[in-house]
Amino acid sequence: MEHKKLFIAGKDVPPKSEIFSDILNPATGETLAQVAEGNADDVDEAVKAAHAAFYDGPWRALNSGDRTRALLRLAGLIRDNAEDLARLECQNVGKPIREARDEVALAANCFEYYAGAINKIGGDTIPVAAAGVSLTFREPIGVCGLIVPWNFPIVITSWKVAPALAMANTVVVKPAEQTPLTAWRLAELAVEAGIPPGVLNVVPGRGEEAGEALVRHPLVRKISFTGSTAVGRRVMKLAADDIKRVTLELGGKSANIVFADADLDEAVPGAVWSVLGNAGQDCCARSRLLIEKSVYSDFLYRLADQFRAVRLGDPLDDNTEMGSLISTGHRSRVQGYIDAGKKAGAALVCGGRIPADNQLKRGAYLTPALFADVDPQMKIMQEEIFGPVLCAMPFDSEEEAIRIANASTYGLSGAIWTRDIGRALRVARAVETGVISINTGHSVHLEAPFGGVKQSGVGRELGLAVLENYCELKSVFVKV
Ligand code: NAD
Repeated sequence: MEHKKLFIAGKDVPPKSEIFSDILNPATGETLAQVAEGNADDVDEAVKAAHAAFYDGPWRALNSGDRTRALLRLAGLIRDNAEDLARLECQNVGKPIREARDEVALAANCFEYYAGAINKIGGDTIPVAAAGVSLTFREPIGVCGLIVPWNFPIVITSWKVAPALAMANTVVVKPAEQTPLTAWRLAELAVEAGIPPGVLNVVPGRGEEAGEALVRHPLVRKISFTGSTAVGRRVMKLAADDIKRVTLELGGKSANIVFADADLDEAVPGAVWSVLGNAGQDCCARSRLLIEKSVYSDFLYRLADQFRAVRLGDPLDDNTEMGSLISTGHRSRVQGYIDAGKKAGAALVCGGRIPADNQLKRGAYLTPALFADVDPQMKIMQEEIFGPVLCAMPFDSEEEAIRIANASTYGLSGAIWTRDIGRALRVARAVETGVISINTGHSVHLEAPFGGVKQSGVGRELGLAVLENYCELKSVFVKV
């Protein structure tokens, strides 16, 4: 069994906490590895290593070509080790291997994209009202603390590490306590790629201990956090103490709006997989389904058929469409929402059960649940369930669909299905969200900004937009 310590300054470092915790495969309940649980002293050591690498190491001084080549070498090593990384992610999260393979490819693409961006981001010359010229420089911030959730570990780690390193910062990654394995491996590959020791450090540990220590550390200049809105709120408050820069990517309760004129053959599977991907443990899950009344019954009927046909199974099997949830504890939380929905009077059309199969019983599996006739005020329509649960309701008009879609404290993602391009754009503009897709359930692209409005977050990841979050803009005036 793998025994992983902390990864600090390019080395395997024993934790001062002396605590190791079992990392489980949620699909079998078996222990996959034992990983160190860092405490505040361990975080301090990692931050100091990142600080030394920033001020005394070669990373910041590398020219743009050398930094680009280092990130490209890391992308190449991710590709060389893709199958091992995908299996690790699949077993640690319980997600289907085919999703894990796509995610590892996305991680490699991400390092390539930001490697390519390095020599395209510069400053300006500004015609100020004085005898001289003003120049701007984009400079690194310093040590960045990157806090990652358990649902897409290698993807979200890469979304943060790649742009932070592209802008010449150094980082300390705090993976989620359940899923530290691929972040660890990424840090090893970074050293193999020639990225100097101390530039990328990884301290696994509990959120309240290692996570908070990172947010509170005075040498950390920026925090990029992805996780729940409740923890994001706490991170923002703690970061305020010494005015750290903060990016927050938080929860969602996104609406999927289906108009009667849509191509329903596409909209039905679109509605299924925009909530059941990663077993619904996706911040972008379109978990509220609003269907125009004239096609409501027909749509639900077809949806239920597809929900019942979803193939649950061993995540390592290529044919598996939906794997396990992250833990039995999380499954109980999701089941609590299903009970609340039934109690509130929503109609459970199918699913929401622990499968009878003996093999699957060992893991945290749950059959996909479809609720119909849900009221917008119900708890299951308001709160993020983060599991394979879809809540459907009918609407009468475009205005009503927009009103219901916006009746949420969240605003992360969403989708619109219609053949009327005018209406598609009208609704896309009217829905209060950071990201929305038209006639597809996919809206996240490496090259385009991603993030939330309202309580779904602050700031953007991805695209060139994220680079602004990993640098400071300096103005220099030259008297001529
Ligand atoms: P979480 O908020 O419990 O934990 C996220 C990370 O924060 C973990 O690494 C955890 O250890 C750490 N943490 C916990 N308490 C902390 C504290 N007090 N101080 C500092 N760090 C702390 O979230 P989770 O359960 O791991 O992930 C699920 C949540 O993440 C969902 O709400 C989901 O919507 C959200 N999410 C958002 C996005 C996005 O891009 N908007 C992407 C994926 C997941």
